[in-house]
Amino acid sequence: MEEIYDVVIIGAGPAGLSAGLYAGRSQMNALILERGQDGGQIAITDSIENYPGQAVQGESGPELVARMAKQAEGFGAKRASDSIQSVELNGDVKVLHGVKQDYKTHNVIIASGAHARPIGCENEGVFTGKGVSYCATCDANFFEDFEVYVVGGGNSAVEEAMYLTKFARKVTVIHRRDQLRADKHVQEKAFKNPKLHFMWDSVVVALHGEGLLSSMDVKNVKTGEITTIEADPDDGMFGLFGFVGTVPNTKIFEGTGLEMDERGYIPTDQDMHTNLPGVYAAGDVRVKSLRQVVTAAADGAIAAVQVEKSMSNY
Ligand code: NAP
Repeated sequence: MEEIYDVVIIGAGPAGLSAGLYAGRSQMNALILERGQDGGQIAITDSIENYPGQAVQGESGPELVARMAKQAEGFGAKRASDSIQSVELNGDVKVLHGVKQDYKTHNVIIASGAHARPIGCENEGVFTGKGVSYCATCDANFFEDFEVYVVGGGNSAVEEAMYLTKFARKVTVIHRRDQLRADKHVQEKAFKNPKLHFMWDSVVVALHGEGLLSSMDVKNVKTGEITTIEADPDDGMFGLFGFVGTVPNTKIFEGTGLEMDERGYIPTDQDMHTNLPGVYAAGDVRVKSLRQVVTAAADGAIAAVQVEKSMSNY
């Protein structure tokens, strides 16, 4: 007989793994689906310093997530590696169409997270992987002793810029305003770092190079002046890292009846219910004020407990 899960969780980041842990622990037939590597955005984060009770100071994202995954599996949550392409979320039995197979389930917890927003400059796609990156943990070692530029002024940009100073000769943060958005204690550390420099009121408008990124045009938004930054001739290239926020992974839910806001985030009530019965959202994918590992994990737990409560009414 075809298997119908109690709950399928889309995404194995902190929200999905936490949902899986709670669902498994309450004996539900739960499946966690992940299309890539576990961890979502924390899989590409160098150090996690603000997850409560963290055992190891400055532990990396992948280490933390590996423990979360092991814990969820230990409580019986099943795992599958597949990429969901389309969904049918109405009705008692929901159907998720993956690349490998279809999945039927009474409940869905959407924990599909978010991905890096593009910088938005000309030729960005041409130089992605050829100088342009959105992941310092993944790519910092390619820029050992090179010059690196970081776009953005939030916590991600400033923390990842500091991480990049361990590898690069010089790191310059390019920010569109004259004040950082990052938390004050993060800023204090950054301003003390001798390898970290700042280019204020500036946006990257175009990238150039023969194969690899070797020059870019940067516009001062106050004066309109455009400056061309060239790679050091001895290097022949430089790195450009974008950390200008995130975009939710919700494209597959468009047109399904699932309510989303104008940016694609999913509104829920405080118990993670979406507008569709049996469909919950948890973590960075939902409309919320604080996107952190701790809030994602909490969302996942709440969603799984709500599924369990609804199932005891069957
Ligand atoms: P963010 O806080 O939204 O910051 C995005 C930054 O990019 C802002 O400085 C913004 O400028 C700039 N920006 C946005 N669009 C741009 C564009 N088109 N061109 C140039 N610059 C652009 O995003 P985030 O840093 O990725 O952080 C996301 C969330 O995760 C936040 O809530 C953050 O606090 C949290 N986070 C926390 C930690 C931590 O606690 N250690 C670490 C990482 C992230 P403006 O400032 O002018 O808007």
